[in-house]
Amino acid sequence: MYKIANSKLTLLAIVAVVAVAMVALYMKGHPDGSVGKILKLTPEAQAAKAKISPVKALKDRDVYYPGTENLGRNEMRVVALGTGMPSARPKQAAACWLVELGNGDKFLFDIGSGCHERIAAQKIPYDHLDKIFIGHLHVDHMGDLPTFWLGGTVMNRLTPLRIWGPSGSTPEYGTKHALDLMEKMYAWDIGTRSGVIDARGMKLEVSEFPFKGINEVIYNENGVVVRSIPAVHGLDGAVSFILEWNGLKFVYSSDTIPNKWWVEHTKGADISIHECFLPPTLLVTKQGFAPIEALQVGTQGHTSPEQFGKVMAMTQPRLAVGYHFYNDFDIEPEVRTRVRKTYDGPLALALDYMVFNVTKDDIRVRMSAIDEAVWPSPALKKKSPPDFTKAIPISDFTKSGAMGLPEIVGPIYDEINKKYGTNYKPGFKE
Ligand SMILES: [Zn+2]
Ligand SMILES: [Zn+2]
Repeated sequence: MYKIANSKLTLLAIVAVVAVAMVALYMKGHPDGSVGKILKLTPEAQAAKAKISPVKALKDRDVYYPGTENLGRNEMRVVALGTGMPSARPKQAAACWLVELGNGDKFLFDIGSGCHERIAAQKIPYDHLDKIFIGHLHVDHMGDLPTFWLGGTVMNRLTPLRIWGPSGSTPEYGTKHALDLMEKMYAWDIGTRSGVIDARGMKLEVSEFPFKGINEVIYNENGVVVRSIPAVHGLDGAVSFILEWNGLKFVYSSDTIPNKWWVEHTKGADISIHECFLPPTLLVTKQGFAPIEALQVGTQGHTSPEQFGKVMAMTQPRLAVGYHFYNDFDIEPEVRTRVRKTYDGPLALALDYMVFNVTKDDIRVRMSAIDEAVWPSPALKKKSPPDFTKAIPISDFTKSGAMGLPEIVGPIYDEINKKYGTNYKPGFKE
């Protein structure tokens, strides 16, 4: 009897130890205990959590897992989502930077080719990504705007997309003209969705501001001020940006060669992101440029590593970040050595998914671990039902080719009708 009781106790003890060990293991893998919980939150609760964020970036994490860390109230998080050259490649998209603030606001600076999937990897509901600042109208700085705009509409953004961009020397070189034409260019795409999906997110709100503005305020909401300064790149109509919030200053060159406006207005920034192009020697050997072309592009249209270093030495940010080059193991040392000829301060040479947590007393630099199988977040607001009366009709000719396959499609409708208590009927009958 004693022995039986003893073995029962032993069994209970083993069960208890295993249970405690499993909890401990789980907590070790999930130091804030939030990973599992976040998945169970409703979108509204997720949004509320993003707004009220008492937890600082987790000190014991060497890697950033998007969607699992709140920001401190006074903290800024900057995520590199496009750091490469004009031609996107699997490792690096073209220019795009995400700035997230402890007050819940989020901003995109440039939206270059290939960056949309990197934006998606941040697991942020599209409604929170409705503010984009474009530094100039090169395709490597706005190439993914159409997919983000229209794709975002399909993927549950229910707020208009707000875009700020510079004027040009004449109206046809300005942002407004470019985006008017973009809307026209995608008439067919927009037409297919008319009356079918909730199109609130399809609306574009474009704010074109004068490219000549020097430290002029172009955005001032919720304690966040964004200013623009002229950049020297391509044609008239390129700018750089300065974002200030809560005593923190983020500056972003987009593309420019060294210029007096940048030097005057970005001094002492907390994080200074500036283009740092491939050295002309590598433009010749790796990219097949003619030597004169490499010199022109690499120092007169863009900023070489040595020029980048000089600009940082003159402005002394808390952290200098160079981007806009193919950053590989055999390239980075050469770029770094050239930067170090002219600058010896804090430096990061950016890669896609590099993350910067910025507070007044600390700047952490980490890489993200990305979930390749990420899905878009559900809509945050209640969607409006389709209004098929607004759908654009298709011709009898096209209809005549449709195979309705009622024996196949009927049961699919039945399945939904049964589950949701509806009575929908397929459009194509036969
Ligand atoms: Zn450019
Ligand atoms: Zn560029």
